[in-house]
Amino acid sequence: MAEHGARIALVAHDRLKPDMALWVARHRDALTRCEIVSTATTGAMVLRECPDISLTRVLSGPLGGDQQIGALIAEGRIDALFFFVDPMTPMPHDVDVKALLRVALVHDVACAFSARSADLLVAGGALLRA
Ligand code: PGA
Repeated sequence: MAEHGARIALVAHDRLKPDMALWVARHRDALTRCEIVSTATTGAMVLRECPDISLTRVLSGPLGGDQQIGALIAEGRIDALFFFVDPMTPMPHDVDVKALLRVALVHDVACAFSARSADLLVAGGALLRA
């Protein structure tokens, strides 16, 4: 497990999962030093692209995975949230999405909501453990 990397969470809505998998591949070296938790389907997609990445999967977002990640944030166990949000598709678990964003704000966790903002967060050192 990571010694110098941050503890990060990865979540991507369906349309953005390919973006997330490519983003992880681009930052693979830095991410191998991180402790990674992801929602189930996002994690499966990431592992298909980068089988050498070590990550822990929680439930799928609509089945409670967003809430599980929110709980980790509330417990102070996540340093950065990479949440690729689809702004164009209605979600059955919209309340969970809102709750995850809210708890991330409450605990001032570094957040990125797209590949570009995630790149900028990484450039700012978000994958290094403070
Ligand atoms: P998933 O969950 O990675 O299991 O699809 C993400 C979400 O839609 O919240």
